[in-house]
Amino acid sequence: MFDRKLVYLDNGATTMVDPKVASKVVEYMTEKYGNASSLHQKGQEAKIALEESRAIIAKSINAKPNEIIFTSGGSEANNLAIKGIAYQHKKGHIITSLIEHPCVLETVKFLVSDGFTASYIKVNSEGFIDLEQLKQEIRPDTLLVSIMHANNEIGVIQDIETIGKICKEKKVLFHTDAVQSYTKVPIDVKKINADMTSLNSHKIHGPKGVGALFVKNGVKLKRLIDGGSQEKKLRAGTENIPGIVGFAEAVKIANNSHVKHMQKLRDKLINNILKIKDARLNGPMKKRLCNNVNVSFKFVEGEAIGGYLDADGICSSTGSACSSKSLEPSHVLMALGMKEEDAHGSLRLTLSRFTTEQEIDFVLEKLPKIVEKLRRMSPFK
Ligand SMILES: *Cc1c(COP(=O)(O)O)cnc(C)c1O
Repeated sequence: MFDRKLVYLDNGATTMVDPKVASKVVEYMTEKYGNASSLHQKGQEAKIALEESRAIIAKSINAKPNEIIFTSGGSEANNLAIKGIAYQHKKGHIITSLIEHPCVLETVKFLVSDGFTASYIKVNSEGFIDLEQLKQEIRPDTLLVSIMHANNEIGVIQDIETIGKICKEKKVLFHTDAVQSYTKVPIDVKKINADMTSLNSHKIHGPKGVGALFVKNGVKLKRLIDGGSQEKKLRAGTENIPGIVGFAEAVKIANNSHVKHMQKLRDKLINNILKIKDARLNGPMKKRLCNNVNVSFKFVEGEAIGGYLDADGICSSTGSACSSKSLEPSHVLMALGMKEEDAHGSLRLTLSRFTTEQEIDFVLEKLPKIVEKLRRMSPFK
């Protein structure tokens, strides 16, 4: 089914669709292809599958089925959450952090260009939100706090229970981007006091192009896409039934034994990489995503290491996939207070439940040699 020769360690960018998920998707493309808005039996077959999927995803985060709005992915969910609240008002203040995914940062930047104001919460050297600053930034005109659950580059898992509590006490709405943490860290939207939570499918072995926004009952949003009355009139357009059914199937399959498996391999990878001279871990050791490794090596660039790893059949990344084409250092690593030259040196290896110990051993055999070779060539050392 998948290429055994290739070691895929870029699961923070996207994951392989689970074969069981893929067969569900095909079933709903070829046999059960109805439009969920049609009243005949073919439509009702799709409608039933849509509502069953909604219930599965709702239950997984302790929400009610009517609080789940399907979208085209994490980016759209984040746009709907933030613009949806902003445009309920004519102006106002939004709080986010310096280490959010570009789809949050760019959305907030757009709103600022449209007359809204924004504050950015700083993080400490491990990537944890400054909770004191958060308390101080909340003002009477603050419309929304949007802070991600787990970071896609450095894997830091925020204390969103405390963040949610602060928002509740100050009576401001709280949104969290839980795309990276979903199915890897338990999410209970009631416990964390979230008003909105973004999820997606392709980071958890589901198909691309599908995601969801949890919107707590009573929270009013302005919709971004006008048209039919699908998704409680919050997101017009014929529902992506194959994608949604596949998404729910991926959620059903994910379990805690996968988390333990990834965690064990992650720790082996981190502990052995840190034996390389002048290697450092970016992000925290604890409260870190079970599948995330982000390391820097003094005197060598992450891009160069990635190129040599690729030649050995190992897929890695430097920072996030969305920004890896730009030559700018990662905004996340810069927010940790790293020097620009160190932020360029980082390498991200992200595991999945399909990652094997042999694959990790293979990386641990190749990586030290690549770093050594590049250092011999480096003019900086
Ligand atoms: C991947 C990702 C997104 C974007 O999700 P898409 O479904 O690819 O649009 C948003 N936030 C985080 C943290 C992500 O890792």
